[in-house]
Amino acid sequence: EAFNAAVAEAAVLNAFIVTTPDHALAAADAVDAKRARGEDLGKMGGVPIGMKDLFATRGVQTTAASHILEGFKPEYESTVSQNLWDAGAGMLGKLNLDQFAMGSSNETSYFGNVSSPWKKSGTNAAMSPGGSSGGSSAAVAARIAPAATGTDTGGSIRQPAAFTGICGIKPTYGRCSRWGVVAFASSLDQAGPMARSVEDCAIMLEAMAGFDPKDSTSLDMPVPNWEADLSADLRGKKIGIPREYRMEGTDAEVLASWDRGMEWLRDAGAEVVDISLPHTKYALPAYYIVAPAEASSNLARYDGVRYGLRDLPDGAGLQDMYAATRAAGFGDEVKRRILMGTYVLSAGFYDAYYTQAQKVRALVSRDYAEAFTQCDVILAPTTPTASFPLGEKTDDPLAMYLNDVFSVPASLAGLPAMSVPAMLNGDGLPLGLQIVGRPFDEQGVLNAGLAIQ
Ligand code: GLN
Repeated sequence: EAFNAAVAEAAVLNAFIVTTPDHALAAADAVDAKRARGEDLGKMGGVPIGMKDLFATRGVQTTAASHILEGFKPEYESTVSQNLWDAGAGMLGKLNLDQFAMGSSNETSYFGNVSSPWKKSGTNAAMSPGGSSGGSSAAVAARIAPAATGTDTGGSIRQPAAFTGICGIKPTYGRCSRWGVVAFASSLDQAGPMARSVEDCAIMLEAMAGFDPKDSTSLDMPVPNWEADLSADLRGKKIGIPREYRMEGTDAEVLASWDRGMEWLRDAGAEVVDISLPHTKYALPAYYIVAPAEASSNLARYDGVRYGLRDLPDGAGLQDMYAATRAAGFGDEVKRRILMGTYVLSAGFYDAYYTQAQKVRALVSRDYAEAFTQCDVILAPTTPTASFPLGEKTDDPLAMYLNDVFSVPASLAGLPAMSVPAMLNGDGLPLGLQIVGRPFDEQGVLNAGLAIQ
């Protein structure tokens, strides 16, 4: 009954692409059986979670919210989802997202927009749950799922978490295996948990993470028990405040929430210090070259031969089939990324764009390395504004990309970064604060998050 009520609520938000109640019930039964035998229930014993539809799930449709993968049922399970099942979790269903995780508002899905459960006070307009993990954020914020997986290439865990008043952490690049995760920009893609509390994120991240020989960029490091070492006592810690993040276009209320975040961390015993990340303003343009470049290469595999959709016009040859399949199968934003990506990688423009963007990426990483000689974690807003009504930014891709201005720098540097809810703005909408840590220091990030939440 509870499941059906949740399904009805989820239908309003359009959070799920498919639901899988049997999977969740089987996990619950398995936990009952273990309990009866007096066995350990596992880190996630019986918890029914939502799975972003970017993770391959054996026998369950996996679409990346695209038409080109509609009907695709993988023969294999992603490492991250398998890790969660091994830890006792069950799956409520596959969550909607921006198509191929490209977007910041969940308006590029072939399966329709996702709405946030939040409304601007006094209005009834459907609001964006953020993107690309918008089905995940909406389902968790609406209490349909206690937790969900997300992926973050340039902010897709943190920005939707901020827009919906929940927590989400992108761990250090390499912590979670990318094996079986539909690739967007492989040097940036990283999975992570989205949940209602820092504690839940810590527990779920431990279940998701771990070395995987099937992913060549997987970190061969032990997974810490982050939950056990959670502590909101920040005495002796230094919190860096990057002065370049005081950017034009940032809401006054977002800046106010940042000030309050500093106060909360001081109250927890930390020292707040001014730092500089001088190349911040180049991070967004560099990201929107590197990510589409990698995407254009990764998406070459969708050719109508191997997966999902095949559009084979009468009498058509192979090239025609590729063209027809890709024209019909990819959405506009995906096509825009492929065009940008192939352009910046083309012989005449490679050095001017792609090589330059890679240099900027190195400078952004160096900024962080320098900053972390002066502080332990960095505090900044997650986004320059709160959520916006669906439709407000759809015909202005640049305005949409600006959502990611505070989240892409940590992605370029591969650093662990989290968004935690800070406060509601004057419109009654949530604002999030972002904590970025040193490589492998998820603990420092989670602990600062705990002091804020
Ligand atoms: N909004 C960013 C983009 O569209 C980030 C997406 C993501 O992290 N998957 O590329």
